[in-house]
Amino acid sequence: MKDLIKRLVTLQQVDTRILEKRAFIDRVPGRINEVDEPLKAARAELELVRQRNDASAKKKKEKERLLEDINDKIKKAKGRISDLKTNKEYQAHLKEIEASEREIRSIEDQILAIMEEMEKSLQNQKQIEGRVKSEEDKLNAFRRGLEEEVAQYEKELEGLKAERGGLAASVDRDAYNAYMALLATGSGLAVTSARNEICTGCNMNMPPQLFVELRKGEELIQCPQCRRILYYSEEQ
Ligand SMILES: [Zn+2]
Repeated sequence: MKDLIKRLVTLQQVDTRILEKRAFIDRVPGRINEVDEPLKAARAELELVRQRNDASAKKKKEKERLLEDINDKIKKAKGRISDLKTNKEYQAHLKEIEASEREIRSIEDQILAIMEEMEKSLQNQKQIEGRVKSEEDKLNAFRRGLEEEVAQYEKELEGLKAERGGLAASVDRDAYNAYMALLATGSGLAVTSARNEICTGCNMNMPPQLFVELRKGEELIQCPQCRRILYYSEEQ
C-alpha cells in the first residue's frame, strides 16, 4: 500500500507539472492579445491621420482647380474688352474682373491654410508611424520570447508524458481510475498531503482517528470533505 501511495504521489507531481505547462501554453494567445493593444491603438490612430491627410490633399486639389477656372474666366473676360461699346459696359466689366481677382486671393489664402495644416498633420503622421514601428518591434520580441518558452515547454511535456505513461502503468487500475476521476473533479489535484490533521487540498480538519490511520500508511485514505487521496506529511 505504501508503494501505491508513493506512486500516486509521484503521478500527481508529474500531472501537476504537465497541467502547469499546458496552462502556460494555453495562456500565450491571450497574453499576445493583451500586449497587442497599444499596437492596435497606434495603427487605428495612424489610419485616421492618413485619411485626414488624404482628405486635405483632395480639398487642396479642388481649390487649385477652382483657381484655374477663375483664371481662365479672367483671361477670357480680358479678351472681350475690345467688344465693349459703352463706358458703362466697361465699368461693369472691370468690376467683374476685380471680383474674380478677389475670389482668387481668398482661395489662395485657403490653399495656404490647408498646406500649413497638412504640414503639421504630416509631422504627426510621421510620429505615429514611428510609434507603430516601435510597438511592432516590441510585440515581435515578446512573441519570439514566448515562442521559445513554448517550444521548451513542449519538449519538456514530451518527457513528462513518457514518464507519466510508465507511472500510470505501474498503478493498480481501480486506483488509477479513482485518481483520474478525482483529478477531473479536484481542479487537477487528486492527491494531496495532510498535515496536523488538516487536508491541504481543502484546508478542512479531518477526524484524529483517520489521521492516525493515514500515518500508518496501510490503506488508501480519502479526505472526508473533498475526497482527495491523502498522504501523510511530517512538515509542520
Ligand atoms: Zn480535503
